[in-house]
Amino acid sequence: MAKVLIIGAGGVGTVVAHKCAQNPEVFTEIVLASRTKSKCDAIAAAIGAPNITTDRVDADSVPELVELLKKHKPELVINVALPYQDLTIMDACLECGVNYLDTANYEPKDEAHFEYSWQWAYRERFEKAGLTAILGCGFDPGVSGVFTAYAAKHYFSEMEYLDIVDCNAGDHGKAFATNFNPEINIREITQNGRYWRDGKWVTTGPLEIHTTLNYPNIGPRESYLLYHEELESLVQNYPTIKRARFWMTFGQEYLTHLRVIQNIGMARIDEVDYNGTKIVPLQFLKAVLPNPQDLGENYHGETSIGCRIEGKDKDGKHLTYYIYNNCSHEEAYKETGMQAVSYTTGVPAMVGAMMFLTGKWVKPGVHNVEEFDPDPFLAQLAVQGLPWHEVLNGDLEVNKVEG
Ligand code: NDP
Repeated sequence: MAKVLIIGAGGVGTVVAHKCAQNPEVFTEIVLASRTKSKCDAIAAAIGAPNITTDRVDADSVPELVELLKKHKPELVINVALPYQDLTIMDACLECGVNYLDTANYEPKDEAHFEYSWQWAYRERFEKAGLTAILGCGFDPGVSGVFTAYAAKHYFSEMEYLDIVDCNAGDHGKAFATNFNPEINIREITQNGRYWRDGKWVTTGPLEIHTTLNYPNIGPRESYLLYHEELESLVQNYPTIKRARFWMTFGQEYLTHLRVIQNIGMARIDEVDYNGTKIVPLQFLKAVLPNPQDLGENYHGETSIGCRIEGKDKDGKHLTYYIYNNCSHEEAYKETGMQAVSYTTGVPAMVGAMMFLTGKWVKPGVHNVEEFDPDPFLAQLAVQGLPWHEVLNGDLEVNKVEG
């Protein structure tokens, strides 16, 4: 029925390609393109499906992207390269009349700062062109927004408190490694924290606020307040929310390494001169750290990501609600050769693409995932490897930290 173009052949791109290939009735033709074509070829060979072809593109270049889109004429681009490429790919999609989906919002290379304004500025152009752009369709952002939309649709008349909780209780056996692109990951974690409180953003120091939360099937884990991009759209789309926060777990060993990396200047994103060559320390660090795609083989344990929401139910009574997914690193690796962090990002990206291609999430313009119907998405998510669970009127724990 439809041809899809996946851009990016990292951990997430690998999972997206596997999952699209498992659903040939929707994704009749798959093109996988990235900066290094040999990586695309290796993924296509591992999948071994007859309907995957590969190509090369520098997605920083609009002319190269336009040439690629004109050559393959896909219905939809799934952008799982890096956040730096979001705008060039959106420009090329507009020029060629192609729909767009990504998993992370735009971030300029020279500034560790992400927000939706750059991509929301494309709303009118996509709408006028009759094209749909779906932003942030991984797990968080992605499923976290769909979970919130599901809660609003089925359970709440007013959502007042939203806490997105992200736990990785996996062990990859390395002293220090990041679970997705190290450059993007370290830029995100070393920023100030930020959360929504009574109509405005409150800023905290990096990882300053933390508390112990219990995760299903995992137990207690220290959880740190971070700023995360989906908070920006969720507080706009659900204005009854008084407080919105995002929490992520980190082990002590990870935090110690992170502190050292920062203290010795290796998290810097400006250029330094090394023997006459300009290098960006964080990009150099990426080159010597373990590749996130190679962590899968010995990765044990689970991730658990969900939304803890408090507010008034459809009859105006007080309600607490927790909706979450747990994903096993081992199972993800067995199926796709990638660990659960790539898996939990790649599966929702494929499901979002499926929603668009089957006509369920078609809406010209630029939209965050919570603007679409959550029901068909969550039904597919459960079938495609990420089953989810609900707890009503349990203890959300999050109120022990006032913020
Ligand atoms: P990787 O670093 O593993 O892969 C990125 C891929 O993009 C690589 O194949 C890389 O090519 C390619 N690439 C980079 N620059 C270019 C370029 N200029 N032109 C073409 N291809 C390029 O990252 P991940 O797979 O871990 O992450 C992919 C995306 O998913 C990121 O945007 C990340 O932020 C997002 N993400 C979202 C999550 C969510 O829940 N929403 C969670 C985790 C990740 P090469 O191999 O040549 O370097």
